Amino acid sequence: MSRVLIVGAGLTGSLCACLLRRELQSRVQIVVWDKARGSGGRMSTTRPPDPSSHSADLGAQYITATPSYSQSHHSVYSELLSAGLLKPLDFLVEGLKHGDGNQDYVTPLGMGSIVKHFLSESGADLFFERHVTGLFRRGASWEVERKAGDSEMFDAVVVTMPVPQILQLHGDVLPLLSVHQQQQLDRVVYSSRFAAALFFSPDAVFGFPDWTARYVSDNCCIRYIRHNADAGGLGPSLVVHTSVSFGAEHLERDTQDVQPIILQELHTLLPALPQPISIKCHKWRYSQVLTAVPGCPGQMTVLERPLLVLAGDAFVHSNFDGCVESAQSALRVLKASL
Ligand SMILES: Cc1cc2nc3c(=O)[nH]c(=O)nc-3n(C[C@H](O)[C@H](O)[C@H](O)COP(=O)(O)OP(=O)(O)OC[C@H]3O[C@@H](n4cnc5c(N)ncnc54)[C@H](O)[C@@H]3O)c2cc1C
Repeated sequence: MSRVLIVGAGLTGSLCACLLRRELQSRVQIVVWDKARGSGGRMSTTRPPDPSSHSADLGAQYITATPSYSQSHHSVYSELLSAGLLKPLDFLVEGLKHGDGNQDYVTPLGMGSIVKHFLSESGADLFFERHVTGLFRRGASWEVERKAGDSEMFDAVVVTMPVPQILQLHGDVLPLLSVHQQQQLDRVVYSSRFAAALFFSPDAVFGFPDWTARYVSDNCCIRYIRHNADAGGLGPSLVVHTSVSFGAEHLERDTQDVQPIILQELHTLLPALPQPISIKCHKWRYSQVLTAVPGCPGQMTVLERPLLVLAGDAFVHSNFDGCVESAQSALRVLKASL
């Protein structure tokens, strides 16, 4: 039985684990490590400190399937639709530009529910707060080192963390990259933004009933707002994303110093917003991929034996379908190798 480590419990890692289980069944032991305290990565759903409020998605908000991806990723979409984890977008997103034939979906249980679904289907041994710091080639295996200081051996490794973080890993990853691969990875560019989730008490009333989500074009700080006023008895939540230019300008500042600026700008846009009972603010240093790895088939194979594959949205493009494409591509390499 081969022991495979998938680094990152975001969408790419969790779908890759799920597809690998379905293809190779009990011939493979799948282990998933993530440095965070929960799954989801940039598709995680944040629970409020007070359970009387609705959860909030600080990262990805909705899924847009082009006609071509609706067809090529049909099995993934139909699985999530029939599990009740996706439904067609049924509210007004002010300022959303609909592409011809595109289908927009939302996640009734939050974006994180999709990732959790694939992780559960994978039957993987899942470990959080496992921060990978280095990969060392040891004969036919990879020794994977953790921040805690210890390490474990695996027959194959798939790394789905953001590319700048891959380039910081100790050990044999960088020396094994060809000059061309190094140049490809160096070209990857991410945007940065801040996101804030505001949680309200169940009796809070929002005075802006026309839209549920809105793109803001005339504010230097705020780019996107989404509320969840119809929270089924729970207190509503509201998510704000800053613009990319604001994210770049304040990137090196502490999140807690930036939070008051975001809240002040939000107040100018929505003066009638009630007082939240709690707020979570997050800095997405690696938010969306602006320049993906050029000329890459969804993954980058660094070494065939022992197998080391780099994957994630940076190897296709930064959205749901980019991750699906990358996970499927990593699966093809894993299948051929194992
Ligand atoms: C603000 C925002 C809005 C977005 N909006 C949308 C949208 O509306 N629709 C859409 O389709 N997409 C959207 N996206 C993009 C989408 O979220 C990403 O494309 C997708 O989540 C990337 O998934 P991934 O698995 O490739 O990477 P990630 O989700 O980044 O997963 C990588 C995982 O690796 C873990 N990790 C990192 N370093 C280490 C380490 N050293 N050791 C162990 N684990 C590690 C991380 O904790 C993370 O969980 C948005 C993203 C952001 C940030």
